[in-house]
Amino acid sequence: MPTDIEIARAAKLEPILKIAEKIGIPADALEPYGTKIAKVDLDFLARAQESAKSRPKSKLILVTAINPTAAGEGKTTTSVGLADALRVIGKKSVVALREPSLGPCFGMKGGAAGGGYAQVVPMEAINLHFTGDFHAISAAHNLLAAMIDNHIYWGNAPAIDSRRVALRRVVDMNDRALRQIVVSLGGVANGYPRENGFDITVASEVMAIFCLARNLQDLQERLGKIVIAYGPDKKPITAEDLKAAGAMTVLLKDALMPNLVQTLEGTPAFIHGGPFANIAHGCNSVIATTAGLALSDYTVTEAGFGADLGAEKFLDIKCRKAGLAPSAAVIVATLRALKAQGGVAKADLGKENHAAVKAGLANLGRHVSNVRKFGLPVVVAINHFGGDNESELEIIAKTSRDEFGAEAIVCKHWAEGGKGAAKLAEKVVELAESGKANFHVLYPDELSLTEKMRKIAQEIYGAKDISIEPAAKKQIADIEALGFGHLPVCVAKTQYSFSTDPTKLGAPTDFTVPVREVRLSAGAGFVVMITGEIMTMPGLPKVPAAVNIKLDDKGQIEGLF
Ligand code: ADP
Ligand code: MG
Repeated sequence: MPTDIEIARAAKLEPILKIAEKIGIPADALEPYGTKIAKVDLDFLARAQESAKSRPKSKLILVTAINPTAAGEGKTTTSVGLADALRVIGKKSVVALREPSLGPCFGMKGGAAGGGYAQVVPMEAINLHFTGDFHAISAAHNLLAAMIDNHIYWGNAPAIDSRRVALRRVVDMNDRALRQIVVSLGGVANGYPRENGFDITVASEVMAIFCLARNLQDLQERLGKIVIAYGPDKKPITAEDLKAAGAMTVLLKDALMPNLVQTLEGTPAFIHGGPFANIAHGCNSVIATTAGLALSDYTVTEAGFGADLGAEKFLDIKCRKAGLAPSAAVIVATLRALKAQGGVAKADLGKENHAAVKAGLANLGRHVSNVRKFGLPVVVAINHFGGDNESELEIIAKTSRDEFGAEAIVCKHWAEGGKGAAKLAEKVVELAESGKANFHVLYPDELSLTEKMRKIAQEIYGAKDISIEPAAKKQIADIEALGFGHLPVCVAKTQYSFSTDPTKLGAPTDFTVPVREVRLSAGAGFVVMITGEIMTMPGLPKVPAAVNIKLDDKGQIEGLF
């Protein structure tokens, strides 16, 4: 099997005008970036949404997963494969995905454009710089950061307590050296020295806002609400207090148009925005998802990490805010992740081990019943890897059917493209058309922040209870006093376990979820509950992927995956 980049490079791409035509986007609504990528005009999309209201409702399909291994279990690959498979069986589909961040590309995980014969292309461009959206988001964020230090320097009103600046700086790179820094060193002309630090761009609240905004006006209003610092009276100071939101929006004007590309099989793909799945909600922009729904019959989209984090936030934050209602959910599982959840060490994942598969299936079972709590019908997609043991796959299918009441379908889109996932597509259509979906969020807005967190921990994670540390209790009280108690909760938690302990595998019970810190993302419109150490600036591994990425003698990129 050729590598991802070899497959992507060998692909014969259709002109982006032709891809746009398939979903009724006229040439004058496109802003082409070369011949294979285009941004789509926001006014055109607003009109398309209006006229879609008079047609039968288009279906939104969520692709989520069991708790993954560090390599990822193929949510992106399966989203692409399913969108292609829907076209194979004659449905008009699009896929809506996140834009990849440069950090993981050069770090450990590699790119995020799918894999094998289920990829979005041009793969190199999508993974590297793309249409510059992340650079624009970094620039908008860092403009605000510069305006804060300038505000302090000139002593402008309202006064900022320089020890209580909440906004850090961002760069789209894994760079642990920048986690904690001191700025304004070097004398009077450079301002007042203070501690500061960098986060990766995808962790910026500007990124989360970008992905939840409905249009430019909404974007600007939300940017203005970012709490950037506190005054000497401890009152919050917002970006709008510094009159920053207008200029930030100007920097984001083009970026907010969603990017249109294609899959290897010519299915239209919107790739737009990419917030972190821990301190943010982890899915592509509302604008891209609603564009897909307005222009096609099926929109397949992915939510970050496992269903406990990714799907819960997709449903309770993005769908709640944007008024979206999915018609069905696909839970991706792999044999290796199930075995890992069954307690098998990484080196032994290739060995036949029925007991471990059975033990690991408890993890899948809980995700299936969790997603049903939101009123969604579920199908399990077993993402097939070469060398997977047939009798083990059989155990998954049987247990899933007999014990969880969900069909588990072996999918070979990675090796075969869309036709390898045709059975999955048929099942998805059956579920979506059945009218069984009765989507509702897990908790109402009115519930207190603490009760929202408790409900998520008990109903989704299977926890006994939560325990809120004193500092976090105070933060919750302050946030509620400021009038933000109605916001949904965005949990930051390990993706490797239902619990906050990555070594507690399967479907653990009898654990408590500690809440250590609570942060207000007033612009994005959620309250982040942090349950452990969370990393907003990743580091690179001992041998980063960057070591193997280079141009070959023909000037083509090598080593990207
Ligand atoms: P996720 O979106 O869940 O993080 P991805 O779809 O990005 O996962 O896949 C993670 C990695 O695994 C990618 O490099 C992809 O090429 C690879 N991969 C996915 N499915 C398969 C498969 N069936 N066989 C081999 N490699 C796969
Ligand atoms: Mg992914």
